[in-house]
Amino acid sequence: MRELLPYLQLYKKHWFGLSAGMLLAFTTLFASVGLLTLSGWFISASAVAGLTVARETFNYMLPGGGVRGLAMGRTAGRWGERVVSHNATFKLLTELRVFFFKKLAPLVPGRVANLRDGDLLNRLVADVDAMDHVYLRLLSPVVVSAFGIATLTLFLAWFDFSLGLILGSILLSLLIIWPVVFYKLGKHNGQQLTTHKSDLRVTSLDWLQGHSELVLFGAEERYRNAILDTQKKLLANQYVNANLTGMANGLLMLANGLTLTLILWLAADGVGGNPPDPMVALFAFATMASFEMLMPIAGAFQYLGQTLTSARRLNEIILAEPEVCFPEHGSLKSENYNIHFDSVSFSYDDTNSAVIKDFNLHVEAGSRVAILGQTGSGKSTLIQLLCRYWDTNKGSISIASTALTQISEENLRNTISVVSQRVDILNGTLKDNLAMAKPDATDDELKSVLVKVGLQTLLEDKGIDTWLGDGGRQLSGGEKRRVGIARAILHNAPIILLDEPTEGLDKKTERQIMDLFSQHFVGKTVIFITHRLVGLDSMDQICLIEDGSIAEQGSHDELLDLKGRYHRLHQTL
Ligand code: ATP
Ligand code: MG
Repeated sequence: MRELLPYLQLYKKHWFGLSAGMLLAFTTLFASVGLLTLSGWFISASAVAGLTVARETFNYMLPGGGVRGLAMGRTAGRWGERVVSHNATFKLLTELRVFFFKKLAPLVPGRVANLRDGDLLNRLVADVDAMDHVYLRLLSPVVVSAFGIATLTLFLAWFDFSLGLILGSILLSLLIIWPVVFYKLGKHNGQQLTTHKSDLRVTSLDWLQGHSELVLFGAEERYRNAILDTQKKLLANQYVNANLTGMANGLLMLANGLTLTLILWLAADGVGGNPPDPMVALFAFATMASFEMLMPIAGAFQYLGQTLTSARRLNEIILAEPEVCFPEHGSLKSENYNIHFDSVSFSYDDTNSAVIKDFNLHVEAGSRVAILGQTGSGKSTLIQLLCRYWDTNKGSISIASTALTQISEENLRNTISVVSQRVDILNGTLKDNLAMAKPDATDDELKSVLVKVGLQTLLEDKGIDTWLGDGGRQLSGGEKRRVGIARAILHNAPIILLDEPTEGLDKKTERQIMDLFSQHFVGKTVIFITHRLVGLDSMDQICLIEDGSIAEQGSHDELLDLKGRYHRLHQTL
């Protein structure tokens, strides 16, 4: 149960709505039980009065009014309770989803690297949804029933102490036994159900995302069968759930019948020491009605296992410490945007050997540095360290003479523009894909940047409202790269990091893209990562890295004169 603590704490803020919901639920229950009890007594008392002289004096109006009042109270109460408690719960869920997302964001990419997209999505959607059970199905009905049972017991005990106490004890025992028994019965199935629900999302997403590859390699059927298998398991879990709900309700009705028989038998000789009178009917009807208090609890606790598993899954994210913590405030100490790597070492995890080893590099503000190295030598890792995706294991990095760890996330992102090795196109319009770099950009500004990077062809048809991304227009590798460059131009930060922006492009496009850099990134501090030797003569410094440390460093001419590795690389061209 401790798993639920972080969520129960969120309730504090909505205490008013949630308590009002419970109060209204109690009112409804009171009206409901009162209605049946009063009606039972009223009908019998009227019948008895009709047979005796009391028919002259019997007050039909007051109980009649009471029955009407309770009937209306029940309807209004139920409506009010649904509105108030659902409103509070939905607000709570919205908040919980935002709360979860805020905790999740800093964990990317480090802590959640081993979780699947589908699994994360399931946590954000289904597991958060499962939390509404805690209040609506568990907490509120138990509290309301407990108060309901206490009130009914007191009321009946006023007429007949022992009878009231017997009914109260039976109801209270059932209130304790039912949740425990059905929690135990449904626990295992609930855990499985939560896991299978997540599996179904994961397998469906795998199939959907990799569909064309799966078809080409003849694996589509296998993946489709995996979805069908998981679905079968999930359906089996839901079948068990439905059976348990039926059993819980059925058994409760049986208990109701038995209790009614018992109370009738005990009350048959009269209530409160009086001879048999309409009060017997009051007790009988009160017993029948009292089980309405327990009905919401009947099947609810079999879902507790499911809710607890969901809470545990959410806690794995909520309670995880991010690998990188940005300070809330932290501005740059100067506007001289130099970059300094000081004896930096880094490995992705403790078991792996270091990807970056004792790396030292100073990049003057406004200068251009090329980092050259074979695939896997750690070039992209250097850029990720500079963007603080990860923290260094040893050594430090600074920008504008300020340690990276002292800069707030907002300032850091505003200082650096990145054209990453793999440009991600979001599932949205061309405008969405560009405006992420500058949300307040006007349409004309976006269009002019697109023309600058040579993507004017995309502006035909629907213009910047053209749908890109999944299922939309498929961009070629070169077009994607240009969208990345357009983002960097729009973002217009003083430091530009380019990770192999011309990889896989033909010579002509490569030349065009290199020209774009020289036009648009004038006066900025640029780190240009490549393993191609094109355009390096215009760089202020070239840094050849091997296995995560610097093998050679200097200007193009210096390195050629050195007649070392760079020279040899040049010769092989
Ligand atoms: P390329 O030229 O192919 O882009 P690179 O120089 O950019 O290569 P990196 O991407 O920095 O190379 O990777 C350096 C090493 O770190 C590689 O051996 C890679 O397998 C490993 N690596 C990269 N990212 C991760 C990660 N998230 N977790 C674990 N290891 C990683
Ligand atoms: Mg790389």
